[in-house]
Amino acid sequence: MNQSFIPTTDSVDKLIQEFNKLPGIGPKSAQRLAFHMLRASDEQAKLLADAILSVKQKTRLCSICFNVTESNPCPLCRNEQRDHSKICIVEQPQDILALEHTKIYSGLYHVLHGAISPTEGVGTDDIRIRELLQRLEGGAVTEVILATNTNLEGEQTALYLSKLIAPLGIKVTRLAQGLPFGTELEYADDVTLTHALEGRQEF
Ligand SMILES: [Zn+2]
Repeated sequence: MNQSFIPTTDSVDKLIQEFNKLPGIGPKSAQRLAFHMLRASDEQAKLLADAILSVKQKTRLCSICFNVTESNPCPLCRNEQRDHSKICIVEQPQDILALEHTKIYSGLYHVLHGAISPTEGVGTDDIRIRELLQRLEGGAVTEVILATNTNLEGEQTALYLSKLIAPLGIKVTRLAQGLPFGTELEYADDVTLTHALEGRQEF
């Protein structure tokens, strides 16, 4: 019997610990994932490891909208078919995925990479607000859609941005209708998001 097939508990423990650091993965799930990988073929394990590494090695942030991309500017910013007069502001890149999934928005995006949160020490300079204002300076944008989460931090951020942007003569709207308070955009379903986009109101 090939003893080397039996892994040391150290390496299994290490894998469990690493899975446990992932968001939404508790100790039980981490254990289940680690033992799943133990049973998986070498090929499957390599595919997963390679996918994780290539996400780190090949992706960067778009220099215009700060979405995650493999080419700069990202395909959304480069796409001339999209409406370049609208910018939808989101907290995280995964929010773009949720909104794109509804297929009803054809404008551009801007990823803040967070929300203003005094309690967590996130100030206005810690998220991509300065870069947003630079984008708006060109005068080509006529509407900014605030699609930050509907929790306290998201609302504070939306309010702060509307006060900055409205004086520039740009229409500011907020995704709110149909989105209950406390909603994180990435977890909202398509129907709710579609209603929220279509029913966006001036903020
Ligand atoms: Zn972009």
